[in-house]
Amino acid sequence: MNTEEFRRAGHRLIDWIADYRAQVESQPVSVPIEPGSLRAQLPAEPPEQPAPFEALLADFERVLAPALVHWQHPSFHGYFPSNAELSSVLGDLLSTGVGSLGLAWQSNPALTELEDLTLDWMRRALGLSDAWRGVIQDTASTSTLVALVCARERTTQYGLARGGLQAEQAPLVVYVSQHSHSSVEKAALVAGFGRENVRAIAVDENFALRPEELARALRADRAAGRIPCAIVATSGTTTTTAFDPLEPLAQLAREHGVWLHVDAAMAGSGMILPELRALWSGVEGADSLVLNPHKWLGVAFDCSLYYVRDGEHLVRVMSTRPSYLATAFDERARNLRDWGIPLGRRFRALKLWFLLRDQGLEQLRARLRRDLAHAQWLAETVRATPQWRVLAPVALQTVCVRHEPPGLAGEALDAHTQRWAEALNRSGRAYVTPATLDGRWMVRLSIGALATEREHVEALWRNVRAAAES
Ligand SMILES: *Cc1c(COP(=O)(O)O)cnc(C)c1O
Repeated sequence: MNTEEFRRAGHRLIDWIADYRAQVESQPVSVPIEPGSLRAQLPAEPPEQPAPFEALLADFERVLAPALVHWQHPSFHGYFPSNAELSSVLGDLLSTGVGSLGLAWQSNPALTELEDLTLDWMRRALGLSDAWRGVIQDTASTSTLVALVCARERTTQYGLARGGLQAEQAPLVVYVSQHSHSSVEKAALVAGFGRENVRAIAVDENFALRPEELARALRADRAAGRIPCAIVATSGTTTTTAFDPLEPLAQLAREHGVWLHVDAAMAGSGMILPELRALWSGVEGADSLVLNPHKWLGVAFDCSLYYVRDGEHLVRVMSTRPSYLATAFDERARNLRDWGIPLGRRFRALKLWFLLRDQGLEQLRARLRRDLAHAQWLAETVRATPQWRVLAPVALQTVCVRHEPPGLAGEALDAHTQRWAEALNRSGRAYVTPATLDGRWMVRLSIGALATEREHVEALWRNVRAAAES
C-alpha cells in the first residue's frame, strides 16, 4: 500500500470507526455466535493475489463486524469498562503509523521521554508521592509477574545470577487473597513459586483480605522453615471491587521483610478522584503497584502502568547486561527494555498522552464521578426492590445483585440466576457477567462505558428485572 492509497483507505477507515461509534447503540450489545462459524465464512487458503482495500473492509463488515461484542456500547455492563476514548484511539494509530520502536533510549528518545513524562503525570494525578517511578506494560498480568520476579530476587538477593530458585534452601511463599485476580496466581506459578507456596488468605464480610489471617500465615510459614517473600494486595477486586486494607498489610510486609505489590488494575483509574483515595490509604508502603488506564480511564487497550519505588532494583532484575548488576542505572537516559520483559516497545505513551491532553483531568474526573453516581443510584434502587439484593459494598462502579424469589435457594437459585443472566445476554439488550460469590451465583453489573448515561442504567434495571421476573 503506498502513501496515497493509505491516505484514501485511512480516511475511509476513520469514517468507518466514527460511524461505528456513533451508531453502536442501535445494535444489540452482542449476538449469540457458534464457535467456528466465523472462520468458516472466510477462505481457508491465504490469498495469492492482492485485494483492494474495499474488499477487505467489505469482508470485515460482512463477517466480523456483526459478531463483535460491543464493549463500547452504552449497555455494556460485563467484566469491567474497557474504554477506548477516541482521542486515545488516534494516539494508538499514530504510534503504529510512525512505526518507531523503543529498544533502548537511542532507538526512540521521543518514546522514552514521553513515557517518562506521562507516567509522572499519572503519578501526580493519582496523588502518589515522587518516590514512585513507572513504566508501561501491556497488561496487569505482566506487571504482576514482573512484581513477583522482583520480590523473588530481593528475597534471594539476586539468586537469578546464581542457581535461581532451584538453588534455594527453603521454599519462598507468596500471599494473596481468596479474591485476588487469577493473573496473580498465574504470575506466581510462572515466576516459579509453585502452587504449594501460594497462600490464599481468607477475606472478611466485605471481601477484603483479613490482616490477622495473613499474620497467622506468615508466622506459620516462618515456623515451618519457609521464607515469606511477597504479599499481593488488591485495590478493587474483580468480583466485587473490594479493597484490601493496605495500612496493616504494609505494616506486616515491613515486619516480615516481604515485598508488597498492589494490584489496582481496575480501581487505580479511580484514584484520580481525591475522594476515593482513602480506599487505598497505605499504598505508599507498597513496593510496586499496577493500574490499567485501559480500563475505566479510557486509554485504548493495552496500557498497564507499573510503578515501583526502587527502580534500580527493577533494572538489576530485568537487565540482560550483567554490568548492571554492578553499576547504578542511568537515571537520565532510561532503557525501558530493562524495566520489564519485552525488548521491543510500542509507543504506547502516545495514546495515554492524547487522552490526558484531549480531556484534561477535569473531564476525566467528571466522567468517573458520573459513573459512581450511576452505580449508587442503581444499588439504592435494587436494595429498595422486594426480592432483590445487593451482595457487596458498592465502592466503585460495580453492583453485585441477585434476584431471590421466595422458595428458591441453593442450586435452584443458582439455576435461576444463570438462566436470567443468560437470557438477558442473549436478548442483546445488555451484556452482564454472572459470577460466584460465597459459592453462589450472582450477577455483576459493571457501569462505566463512555457512552453509558443515566437513561441506560435505568434501562439496564428494567431489562434485568424483566429477564429475572418473567
Ligand atoms: C483486569 C484485572 C486484572 C487483569 O488485567 P490484564 O491487564 O488483563 O492482565 C488483574 N487484576 C485486577 C484486579 C483486574 O481488575
